[in-house]
This record gives sequence, C-alpha cells and structure tokens, in this order.
Amino acid sequence: MPSDCIVTKELFECRRCGDCCKGFGGTYLTGEDIEAISRYIGSNPEKFIARYCSLSGTKPVLAQRSDGYCIFWDNICTIHLVKPHMCRKWPFIESILVDAKNWLIIADSCPGIHADAPVDAVQKYVKKKLTRDN
Ligand code: SF4
Ligand code: SF4
Repeated sequence: MPSDCIVTKELFECRRCGDCCKGFGGTYLTGEDIEAISRYIGSNPEKFIARYCSLSGTKPVLAQRSDGYCIFWDNICTIHLVKPHMCRKWPFIESILVDAKNWLIIADSCPGIHADAPVDAVQKYVKKKLTRDN
C-alpha cells in the first residue's frame, strides 16, 4: 500500500517496493472505496466486486493474484488516485496509538519506515492524520 510519499520524511519515505501490496490477507474496502474505484475503472459496484474482489467473511477485499500481489499492482498501484482508505493510511495506522512498538513491528515489513524515529513524533503524526482523514 504505497503511501503518498509526501508525508514527514523523517518518519517515512515510500521506496515503492510494493511489499505492502503483497500477501497481507486482503485490503478491506469501504463503501466509498467501492464507489470511487468502480467509477475510476469505468465499471459499477456490482461488476467491480464480482471481478476484482474476494470475500473475507462477508466483507469485500481486493483480490490477490496467484503471485500474492494485489490485483491492482503492476509495478505501481494502478488505482493510486482512488486507492482504498486502508492503503492511503499506511503506515500510519491506529494500532500505533495502542502500542508504539507496532511501529517497529511494521517497520520489519516496510523499508520506507524510519524505525529510529522518535515514537512520540510518530504517534503525534498518526493522531493528526487520523483526525484529518476520518
Ligand atoms: S490498491 Fe494499490 S496500494 Fe492498495 S494494495 Fe492494491 S496496489 Fe497496493
Ligand atoms: S512496503 Fe513500505 S516502502 Fe514498500 S511500497 Fe509499501 S509503503 Fe512503500
């Protein structure tokens, strides 16, 4: 889930490696995501879900290809302009507020994260971003 790469560079700079677009057990979609992506690809929600999603329980998630990558990954995110909320948030996720150690845990799987960034600065940024985006 490459982020916008314009965030505080002392905390995170996306390397565009695509590691977060692979094998994470599904990217959840909000109703807004479904509407926006359907429109962007010239489809409608029903067709989009049938063609590009799988179900996690009862919830639609973006389908993955046999190589484990998201169906919309092609060396870049091909729906970057309308990518799901979950992708836009990364790596500034709620769980970092619950326990700052989660920043270090996700840094293991994301080379763009500056694991040595001060945790209070990370948490402050997450709070600000979540307030702004929600
Ligand atoms: S929608 Fe884009 S950013 Fe999100 S997992 Fe798929 S390729 Fe990655
Ligand atoms: S794993 Fe991290 S550095 Fe790589 S594309 Fe995803 S956000 Fe960017």
